[in-house]
Amino acid sequence: MKALIDRYRDFLPMTPSTPVVSLGEGGTPLVPLPRLSERLGVRVLAKYEGMNPTGSFKDRGMTMAVSKAVEEGATAVICASTGNTSASAAAYAARAGLTVAVVIPEGKIAAGKLAQALVHGARVLSLDGSFDDALRVVRELVERHPISLVNSLNEYRIDGQRTAAFEVCDDLGDAPDALCIPVGNAGNISAYWLGFQAYREAERARRLPRLYGFQAAGAAPLVEGAPVARPETVATAIRIGNPARGEQALAAMRDSGGAVAAVTDSQILEAYAMLAREEGIFCEPASAASVAGLILRARAGDIAPGETVVCVLTGHGLKDPDTAIVNAEPVRRLPATLDAVEEAVFA
Ligand SMILES: *Cc1c(COP(=O)(O)O)cnc(C)c1O
Repeated sequence: MKALIDRYRDFLPMTPSTPVVSLGEGGTPLVPLPRLSERLGVRVLAKYEGMNPTGSFKDRGMTMAVSKAVEEGATAVICASTGNTSASAAAYAARAGLTVAVVIPEGKIAAGKLAQALVHGARVLSLDGSFDDALRVVRELVERHPISLVNSLNEYRIDGQRTAAFEVCDDLGDAPDALCIPVGNAGNISAYWLGFQAYREAERARRLPRLYGFQAAGAAPLVEGAPVARPETVATAIRIGNPARGEQALAAMRDSGGAVAAVTDSQILEAYAMLAREEGIFCEPASAASVAGLILRARAGDIAPGETVVCVLTGHGLKDPDTAIVNAEPVRRLPATLDAVEEAVFA
């Protein structure tokens, strides 16, 4: 196993004394989506970030942030999270022997993510409030105590997350024409943009992609131009009303020639089901916002025929089994007889 932050050491703030806290993150597959490509007349590939050790892209930033926390002598880390950051922080902190506390919005965390935080031994604190409230509280807390904040406000998280852009360029031989990505707190899209720029500067890519970011319609502050007090969406990972890196993300989209747009929950769930049924890829609802958004953009004529587009599938579908089950056909109960099963299978 070659750790991600070793592989891209030249691009990262590593020093000779930075320990490498790794679980084998990164190196995720860029999977072609032949059916969607055919339908849209463009070449679509999915960067399947669900294949990271804890099932989301958060591991790319967390390996860097926790390695740096150890280097700087921290003994504890904390984050506010809609779920995946806490799962990742809990795993990497366990690996490094640090204690970890995660602060989550009340009742809004997907079952798989909560299970991960708990099983890795995090102290899980559920607030009577939104993600934005949780982030405000932990920001104040770290002002008072020697504890490392591993939210994407932490620059090391962004440094590590840039590696996804490096991998996309390495796999394609250059940057794609366009990148479609869900936007929550807006750290990841910012990191991709920094990554693509760094790679071009280093002459490891020749061009830059257009970045298209997608928010859920019920949680779309960047589209509406103002914070959303009560964000609501089935895509809990992007249920954020006041993105910490909103300005940076808007600049990235503008400077790259892309744009931000909203997709409805029903468009998200349609893309989610299509990916699972027609392409064999199970991602979480927030991830499917990238594909729902691509479909809108392609129909609006923003993607030229034959262009190469990468959709970032940010997290694994197993994170949120409840959404999967609620939106699928019910399981059929049968008597334990050959006739009944034969009838049901071949009907
Ligand atoms: C964190 C997360 C996002 C949003 O990323 P930001 O950096 O907050 O914009 C999207 N999808 C999944 C699955 C996530 O875990």
